[in-house]
Amino acid sequence: MRLPIIGHYINGGRVDSADGDRQPVFNPATGEVGAEVLVGNEADVETAVAAAKAAAPAWAATAPLKRARILFRFKDLIERHHDDLAAAITREHGKIFSDAKGEVTRGLEVVEFACGIPQLLKTQFTDNIGGGIDNWNLRQPLGVTAGITPFNFPFMVPMWMAPVALATGNTFILKPSERDPSPSLMVAELLHEAGLPDGVFNVLQGGKNVVNALLRNPDVRAVSFVGSTPIAEHVYTAGTSRMGPYPLRVQALGGAKNHLVVMPDANLEQAVDALMGAAYGSAGERCMAVSVAVAVGSVADKLIDALIPRVQLLKVKNGMDPDAEMGPVVTAEHKAKIEAYIEAGVKAGAKLLVDGRGLKVGGHDQGFFLGGCLFDHVTPDMTIYREEIFGPVLCIVRVPDFAAAIDLINGHEFGNGVSLFTSDGNTAREFSRRIEVGMVGINVPIPVPMAWHSFGGWKRSMFGDLHAYGEEGIRFYTRYKSIMQRWPETIDKGPEFSMPVSK
Ligand code: NAD
Repeated sequence: MRLPIIGHYINGGRVDSADGDRQPVFNPATGEVGAEVLVGNEADVETAVAAAKAAAPAWAATAPLKRARILFRFKDLIERHHDDLAAAITREHGKIFSDAKGEVTRGLEVVEFACGIPQLLKTQFTDNIGGGIDNWNLRQPLGVTAGITPFNFPFMVPMWMAPVALATGNTFILKPSERDPSPSLMVAELLHEAGLPDGVFNVLQGGKNVVNALLRNPDVRAVSFVGSTPIAEHVYTAGTSRMGPYPLRVQALGGAKNHLVVMPDANLEQAVDALMGAAYGSAGERCMAVSVAVAVGSVADKLIDALIPRVQLLKVKNGMDPDAEMGPVVTAEHKAKIEAYIEAGVKAGAKLLVDGRGLKVGGHDQGFFLGGCLFDHVTPDMTIYREEIFGPVLCIVRVPDFAAAIDLINGHEFGNGVSLFTSDGNTAREFSRRIEVGMVGINVPIPVPMAWHSFGGWKRSMFGDLHAYGEEGIRFYTRYKSIMQRWPETIDKGPEFSMPVSK
């Protein structure tokens, strides 16, 4: 039987010829290949960039209100297709259906934010700076922009970028993860149905060759990347070293190792619930997943006693099972990588309290399942502490006091998200001020900012200055221009050779 082909979407239509390279797309719950995705090449990139470039002037000149109307229709279509989008996510990513629906909602919220673009593009105006001159500023679109996204949020992360890029008047090329590419095409078709002109939003499938060709292309003016730190660093370095009249603007969000600190005065039940959801939700494949529980002082033993049975009883099933709490991991290769980390942890001397390896899920023998894993006595020198595992593995690090917890976290190379569970306001305040992490939760385990705030980590979790979506996103996708105007009755002063100052 011939497998469906997931192709590109260029200039308002699908490009899915069976010629050219393809690679399999798995259903992680069954281990079966459900489709094949095209692997784009340099010529495909040129075609997509040419389409986006041709569409750019008219789209940039379209009134923000008219652009917003298209986004309003897109928002409505996402709501109508909420379940279809979530089912596609579960089918190719593996996460449970309710979680996939949550992902769609979080992406939808950025579309809702972008619908307010006429207000968001309002700028500053100073009447009469002196001598009858007014000064104001504009934020103008950049032109062709591109987004490169990871497998773990195939709808939400593209929505961190595209709605803001489009609303601000840019055209956009999405290069989704080759592991779960279907939602990208659904987005393209819904935008088309919403009335977006051809060429304004395009999708290119593929891997590193497509990414590198986008980075090299002089007509691409900005690249927003989300993925692992080594690739983020590569994209940022390659992108920002491109010179010429239009240097490439790049924001590159990378990997993470997120800590959740449990203080002795925390509500233990709430902390345990938080850890269960944040460590094992989406099988730990979230950049904001908590992968380290920092147990302060006397709390460690109580925490472990409460966590062990909960981790053992996790309901790991096909994500479409309404009873499932955790689905499979994304590929067999990724599963093997996580298992290698678990082995390294055991060898390094950490105590594996719950071992999820070897889990069998009835009727899904070929699925990429792994049970929840829990390590105690993890130390900062261990690989399982230093590196991002991106799987259902929670490490407990014991520290004597609050200061040691802060030092531990500030000493880690990543700084994406962090959380503190406490009942003391001053501890919470000090923590928020002293911690070197971009997104902080106080008694909130996964502090992903809302669409009108902005998302981004610190240190090696993000390269570039402007965070994603929210007002920082508006700035990323626009260029600042200052305008001074004077409409004097006559200009009869002659040239001035000293620095103009307000008179
Ligand atoms: P990845 O880095 O392997 O891939 C991300 C994107 O880069 C994909 O589109 C992929 O095709 C492309 N790519 C892969 N190898 C490349 C190469 N050599 N050159 C150029 N492009 C390449 O990441 P992933 O496995 O898809 O996603 C998981 C990672 O993403 C985790 O590290 C996770 O923490 C991170 N992530 C970060 C955030 C954040 O906001 N900071 C959000 C989601 C995911």
